[in-house]
Amino acid sequence: MSAKGKKALVIGSGIGGLAMGIRLQSLGFDTTILEKLEAPGGRAYVRRAQGFTFDMGPTVITVPHFIEELFSLEVGRPNLNTPDFPAEILHQEKTAKIGVSGGPNTSQYVQIVPILPFYRIYFDDGSFFDYDGDLEHTRQQVARLGEVGDLEGYERFHQDARAIFERGFLELGYTHFGDLATMLRVVPDLLKLDAVRTLFGFSSKYFKSPKLRQVFSFETLLVGGNPLSVPAIYAMIHFVEKTWGIHFALGGTGALVNGFVCKFQELGGRIRYGAEVAKINVSREGNKKVAKGITLQDREILETDLVVSNGDYANTYLKLLEPQYRLWNSDLVVKARKQSMSLFVIYFGFKADGREGQKLRHHNIILGPRYEELLKDIFSRKVLAKDFSQYLHVPTLTDPSLAPPGHHAAYTLVPVPHNGSRLDWDLLGEPLAQKILGFLDQRGYLPDLKNRLVYQSFITPDYFEHTLNSYLGNAFGPEPVLVQSAFFRPHNRSEDISKLYLVGAGAQPGAGTPSVMMSAKMTARLVAQDFGIADQATGQKPGDFVAV
Ligand SMILES: Cc1cc2nc3c(=O)[nH]c(=O)nc-3n(C[C@H](O)[C@H](O)[C@H](O)COP(=O)(O)OP(=O)(O)OC[C@H]3O[C@@H](n4cnc5c(N)ncnc54)[C@H](O)[C@@H]3O)c2cc1C
Repeated sequence: MSAKGKKALVIGSGIGGLAMGIRLQSLGFDTTILEKLEAPGGRAYVRRAQGFTFDMGPTVITVPHFIEELFSLEVGRPNLNTPDFPAEILHQEKTAKIGVSGGPNTSQYVQIVPILPFYRIYFDDGSFFDYDGDLEHTRQQVARLGEVGDLEGYERFHQDARAIFERGFLELGYTHFGDLATMLRVVPDLLKLDAVRTLFGFSSKYFKSPKLRQVFSFETLLVGGNPLSVPAIYAMIHFVEKTWGIHFALGGTGALVNGFVCKFQELGGRIRYGAEVAKINVSREGNKKVAKGITLQDREILETDLVVSNGDYANTYLKLLEPQYRLWNSDLVVKARKQSMSLFVIYFGFKADGREGQKLRHHNIILGPRYEELLKDIFSRKVLAKDFSQYLHVPTLTDPSLAPPGHHAAYTLVPVPHNGSRLDWDLLGEPLAQKILGFLDQRGYLPDLKNRLVYQSFITPDYFEHTLNSYLGNAFGPEPVLVQSAFFRPHNRSEDISKLYLVGAGAQPGAGTPSVMMSAKMTARLVAQDFGIADQATGQKPGDFVAV
């Protein structure tokens, strides 16, 4: 069977939705992406004001090979059978070519450059750690900040995190855990690698210094996971970054999003903006419930051969599908899932005074006085703490085009509880923004900011809930704890409804831009299997797909 003449609808134009659109077009489907907002990107939406360009969400680009792969696809060449990690990609780690960004196909759409250091991590006492993936440099900093035995601990951490990365990412990363048997097969390995204990517990095994425990566990917050509760399998993030570096799209992540839109349209796909889906239409065929189309908010009905939702997982099942069609994803099951935390993000523009690069780097993590207790406030107690930790992004240190001459554009992101907290952001937002910007000024990260500030706006969990349609205002989908990972994470092929698929942060493997691109490939493999589509270029049959 081929996809010729078959239609596909994708709900949402996040990076996962765009990657899925590209993959569906390459499989031969006639694909339309339906986006609620007036522009693409989802969390990677772009805010423009007073000459400043702000990426509203993702800024840290990892695994540029995944981007290159998407830009290399053509109609009839879905490349679902080629190795997920070709030899030359694996070889990059051994030759430490961190500077490799993108590739020939990527550079036709967007320029991607490496960023060093990956992050500057400030502690509350003003000391800092520059993480750049260079083994010797990392050792020097571990020796400078660590306690007795921490350097030796780092050697062991490095070795053990590498083993987790090799098994968890290189070998199993693209596995779709659609049944329990697939999951059970990998459990012995996870136990052997000690990858099921918490990430913070894992990092505490190797380091006595509280600062190093933070350095080697905070990264999971970038995908919505609490280091105190996510499994140590996420130690792989450290190694993913070390292996392929951290990169930035010139013009901002929005330029990458535009590149994906362009590629999708060149392959024949269409995007409709301002097209909010109100309902996924299902019909019963014998014992089967089959997705047949969607109804838009304005009641327009579109028919299709398959639907892929890139919207929030919980919202997809709770709001777009009637309860009578759901057993696996009943209201009870969906609401019982723990959602990731939310974010408070301030976008601001300020006059340059030439000192920004002295203290700050492109990516800065500024940790507060408390770590474990602050995490408990955010994830368990769900209260707004007096103190905060933040990620400060100053892209104009790399790309001045994002601000008017003589100015910088920045954003700072503070993890906060999701809306299960019932915090009133209409009251809390403005004072919190003043407090955070005041902190950056008074602590000398951006001295005299109050007199240099020329633009400021912020988003709260309400933006995630009401603008991006995310249940409880979660920023990253279901929290990636052990009981919500792999088989226990929402499946990319709906268990309830035939020809309905999920893609993006709420599906497998999880949140973060590389993961949502992986998610698109995993979902495309399931679609190819279900529709019996072979690669026209290689003639390979769906059974040959390397998935699962
Ligand atoms: C502030 C922030 C910073 C981040 N930083 C990084 C980072 O540096 N690096 C990294 O790798 N990851 C980062 N992440 C995570 C990453 O951005 C996300 O995991 C990823 O972009 C999610 O993409 P997605 O494809 O799942 O869809 P989303 O981006 O969530 O897009 C979903 C789309 O669906 C649309 N939609 C929803 N419901 C409907 C409907 N009913 N009808 C039509 N359209 C609908 C929405 O409008 C939206 O456009 C960050 C996230 C945030 C919020």
